[in-house]
Amino acid sequence: MKLFAQKQAADFIKTGAKEFRFGGDTRLTPGARDLFIEASVKVVFDASASAPASVAAATASPSFAAKGDALALFNSAEAKKLKDEICEMGRRCWIRDYNDGNGGNLSARLGDYFLCTPTGVSKGFLKPDMICLVDLDGNQIAGNAKWKRTSEILSHLGIYKTVPAAAAVAHAHPIHATAFAMAGIEPPQCLIPEVEVFVGTIPVAEYKTPGSPEMSVLLGKLAPLHQAILMGNHGVITWGTSVEDAYFKMEITDSYCRTLWVASQLPSKRTVIPPDEVRKLLDMKQKMGLPDDRLGLKAAQLCDCDPWDQIGDRPQTSATPANAGANTATMTNAELEGLVQKLTTEVMTQLSKSA
Ligand SMILES: [Zn+2]
Repeated sequence: MKLFAQKQAADFIKTGAKEFRFGGDTRLTPGARDLFIEASVKVVFDASASAPASVAAATASPSFAAKGDALALFNSAEAKKLKDEICEMGRRCWIRDYNDGNGGNLSARLGDYFLCTPTGVSKGFLKPDMICLVDLDGNQIAGNAKWKRTSEILSHLGIYKTVPAAAAVAHAHPIHATAFAMAGIEPPQCLIPEVEVFVGTIPVAEYKTPGSPEMSVLLGKLAPLHQAILMGNHGVITWGTSVEDAYFKMEITDSYCRTLWVASQLPSKRTVIPPDEVRKLLDMKQKMGLPDDRLGLKAAQLCDCDPWDQIGDRPQTSATPANAGANTATMTNAELEGLVQKLTTEVMTQLSKSA
């Protein structure tokens, strides 16, 4: 009988493999078994396995060479919970059509390190063993080497660096909010109470190369006062006090932009929440310890421009064919009737000529 002891188990854990398979006449010592449990390594006894444990260790997936403390953290119960949450929120993003292809990414703070999604994977089909561990500079230090950390991790880290309360960051390309980001329209306020309290003002950050240090710095400047930020000509990034909270900010932001779009198509009485009522909502928000760039403002300074103007009267910038279409859409009934009359007369004239 061959014994597989604590020292050998420690060496095996360093490979980053998540499953220890053994069989034949190999037996684990209690110390080795405890180490595997601590590191969340699944121990499988397979009577038919002929390969000795040392061979199994050598053929395990290659992994990043993390230092002892980072590796222990990466394999801790806390990390496991966060990895599961990241996979679940990724799935929700994909199901809700927030991410096309392999777009979007999620991350969570883990001590002095950060767990994040890998590049090149649909967020709807993440598995916990795909999640990577990075340091504050974005260097990948643990995880299966098959999975490289998202190329946009620097955007997340820009937020973590300036917002200690940020426990998680979500980035996605949800259709409605991304449309606002493309159009460069900041969603107006004073229209829906939940948005005032749970998200607040949503700025549009100027376009920078995705994942660049410049984008990271810009987001770091905006994030202390904004939990949701539209990234110009790109998408949306949110932070939260948990992975689910970051996801909630994404969901609320996109639903709000969608509601604004629908409302802008309706004949409207242009009602708004009165400024003193918005003030009450912001007081409530302050008590909840949530950030907002309007906390110090007086009621009279809130809602100073009509939010309906911001979503309703979109300026038309050039006489392109697309713009000509927009002009037709804004014709009055009388103008439209005149046009139809003119066309009918022309058609009748042509018909009478050919007859
Ligand atoms: Zn993106």
